[in-house]
Amino acid sequence: MGEPAGLTTSDLPDEVPVVVAGGGPVGLACAVELGRRGVGCLVVEPRPTVSHARPRCKTINVRSMQHLRRWGIAGRLRDRAPLAPDWSSDAVFCTSLAGRELSRFTGVLGLVPDGDRFPELGQQAPQYVLEELLRDVVRELPACQLATSYSVTGVAQDDAGVRVTVTGQNGRTAEVTADYLIGCDGPRSVVRDQIGAAYAGGTALRPNFGLVFTAPDLWRHVRHGPAVHYWIINQAAPALMGPIDLDGTWWFIAFGVDQETGEKEAVRLIDAAAGVASRAVVRSTDPWTARMQIADRMCRGRVFLAGDAAHLNPPFGGHGLNTGLGDAVDLGWKLAARLDGWGGPALLDSYQAERRPIQERVIREATANMAVTSPELLADNLDAGDAAGERARHAAAERIQQAKRPEFHSLDLVLGARIDGSPVIAAGPATGALLPHAWLAPGRSLYDDLGEGFTLLVRRPLAAGGAIEKAARARGVPLRVVDVPGPNGAALTLVRPDQYVAWADDREPADSVALIDRLRGAGPL
Ligand SMILES: Cc1cc2nc3c(=O)[nH]c(=O)nc-3n(C[C@H](O)[C@H](O)[C@H](O)COP(=O)(O)OP(=O)(O)OC[C@H]3O[C@@H](n4cnc5c(N)ncnc54)[C@H](O)[C@@H]3O)c2cc1C
Repeated sequence: MGEPAGLTTSDLPDEVPVVVAGGGPVGLACAVELGRRGVGCLVVEPRPTVSHARPRCKTINVRSMQHLRRWGIAGRLRDRAPLAPDWSSDAVFCTSLAGRELSRFTGVLGLVPDGDRFPELGQQAPQYVLEELLRDVVRELPACQLATSYSVTGVAQDDAGVRVTVTGQNGRTAEVTADYLIGCDGPRSVVRDQIGAAYAGGTALRPNFGLVFTAPDLWRHVRHGPAVHYWIINQAAPALMGPIDLDGTWWFIAFGVDQETGEKEAVRLIDAAAGVASRAVVRSTDPWTARMQIADRMCRGRVFLAGDAAHLNPPFGGHGLNTGLGDAVDLGWKLAARLDGWGGPALLDSYQAERRPIQERVIREATANMAVTSPELLADNLDAGDAAGERARHAAAERIQQAKRPEFHSLDLVLGARIDGSPVIAAGPATGALLPHAWLAPGRSLYDDLGEGFTLLVRRPLAAGGAIEKAARARGVPLRVVDVPGPNGAALTLVRPDQYVAWADDREPADSVALIDRLRGAGPL
């Protein structure tokens, strides 16, 4: 089914609680987080349809899949994804698809269970599959409007609100007044410029040439079995590639190759990486250079930045979009709380305080992953059949295992990102981490029982939690009470809407109202 016809300028609302500039994955995720809470929002996006030319993100990690599960759409994504997680969880390093294997990692990128650690496996899917799903979900939410073929071209704000200038592809402009604006308009963000923020950081030296090709017969030549990544360690084409589907469509990244590359050279690179004449047909190209950048501020007044508009990291490890979804979730529930009247002013200030250390860590770790890619692993004799070849392959395997493990097994980053320094959680050893996951029954995750607002986990009969419930009610904070012990058996645990632990203890606090006020961003504890 095609995309619905676009809106005309007169269909745009004059006023809306939140405008989201940019309907890429992060802007759409903001809208889902807000719209599910009934907060009206308008997503402004220039692209009428989602292009399949740039698959970009393939790794949707276990934390993002937790969000999709909470939104009730994890299954819908898996139904649309061309590769199921059980198809393969391997990353292979080889001299070519038809050549020699050098090393491999298994159980990569959250594609296999790790005890009870998470309720949803990671998912490999091209970015456009996620974007198309999120567009559908936004359109299904009565509180949301998606205005395609429009761009945000101007922003002005005062104490009362934000005036957002929206320009259609026909040149017509409209002004929309909002309580808040979220700039999710990507690396060249207009919103970032408009609030006087700027990227700081560096750019990698090496250009990369991404492309999508079809070669239906190629699988017959793959000697290494199914894998989600094939790292090609080959002088003629140091590259990284993987299947988009099982019908012969592949993504391909040639390292150190610039954007002037023509079709003939692209096919030569593919053939060299395949190790056979692939009969590939190039479908689209996407040159890119890695950037390690972060905006010097993520908000001004009523305007916030999220996703690639706020930070950029090298794609190795698959963290950019996933980190952006984390921004969307953090900001989404906080803006909804503020608009709903129970969130205090410090809640919005905590957005930058909580997200920035995580974004900086992602940039650091993704940059470390980039230090060793296919060109750095090139060595003589890797394909030789003699003793020199054996030695070269042994040395390469050792280096690969040592250098690349953190890229493929990164759950400490994906699930271990903490918000210890947050001004809106209580201090304490048990706070600032994600609520550890547990299965309550087959298929029933502890996370499934959490509320849209805060959740109080109560270990009965040790605790009752009545004073906390009363304080939450008094302040209008939505609170669900669930009878299960908290982490390390804590008698009482307060969990935020984003599954972070905000407070835990064996006894009720001396002043439950002060605790609730801190957590809702309305005062010190
Ligand atoms: C080769 C490669 C591989 C990658 N692999 C992964 C991966 O495996 N996992 C992962 O997590 N990330 C990955 N990424 C990163 C991921 O692609 C980005 O982080 C992601 O696209 C960011 O989403 P976004 O919505 O913030 O920005 P974008 O995707 O850039 O979307 C921004 C949107 O804003 C719109 N826009 C632009 N200007 C305006 C305006 N003035 N007004 C309104 N709208 C506007 C654009 O049309 C666009 O739709 C990869 C990146 C690359 C280059």
